[in-house]
Amino acid sequence: MKEDFISVRMHSSLHGNHHSGAERLCGEEELEDVSRQLLQRALSHERGQADKVFLRFDSVPSRSVCHGCLPDMQTIEVDGYREGRAAARELLQDAGVSACAASMAVNSLSGGAAPGGANMRGAMLVDAETGLRRESDPARGVRAKGMDISPDAEKMLRMALEPRGLDNDHVREAMVLAAKVISTPGIIAELCWSDDPSYTAGYVASANGYQRLTHLKPAGDELGGRAFFVRPQSSLAEIVDYLENSFLLVTELGRFLESRRWTGDPDE
Ligand code: AMP
Repeated sequence: MKEDFISVRMHSSLHGNHHSGAERLCGEEELEDVSRQLLQRALSHERGQADKVFLRFDSVPSRSVCHGCLPDMQTIEVDGYREGRAAARELLQDAGVSACAASMAVNSLSGGAAPGGANMRGAMLVDAETGLRRESDPARGVRAKGMDISPDAEKMLRMALEPRGLDNDHVREAMVLAAKVISTPGIIAELCWSDDPSYTAGYVASANGYQRLTHLKPAGDELGGRAFFVRPQSSLAEIVDYLENSFLLVTELGRFLESRRWTGDPDE
């Protein structure tokens, strides 16, 4: 492969259900390491070892790769997941999502957003006004692909996250994914919490930054997912094309703001 970048994608399943997935964009010299890391993830996941793993490489010419910046990051402390979900609804409304769309997305994720109450492979596309789901396949959803962080920017990111106790794969990868999602024309916000049972934090990302909520689900809960909120009347085909087929390399960091406590009304 003589191209400047290689898109590496891993998707694994267990007993026919989604197990784990990851997307990277790397140089040829990093390909073996990156492939090993992704394979490792599928084989030693806390939800068990995958029984089917797909690893795919695609060459990407450097002229197809845009450079971008991470969103500003702030941790918002909440007492437990109920408060976290109330805070998420409020942050989504601050970003321009209607109260009804925010509630519908929180409810879908908490019950398992795929048919039958399972986890989706990708994200829901939620109309930011009506809350209606617009993805064509409610089990697969839409996957953001083709994003990564440059080695130099990653070093700086790790130095910024480490003293905050946040230098882990979850946070780093989610920040890069959020950078791509909120740069998508037609998307105004993202809501995420993990499907890993022990990882209970999550975030809302929007033009207001990457707002990390310390709890969005109870420990032990295997349900998680993502919602991408789309402007009403925006072209779904263009949104999906951008998320799945464009390439973004993060080369700059945003600001790291002081943590704050959420002070809103948990019953809102
Ligand atoms: P994770 O943060 O890896 O635990 O992922 C949580 C959920 O987010 C997964 O179950 C998927 O539904 C969704 N998800 C993970 N990666 C992506 C992606 N690249 N694009 C869209 N949705 C994703």
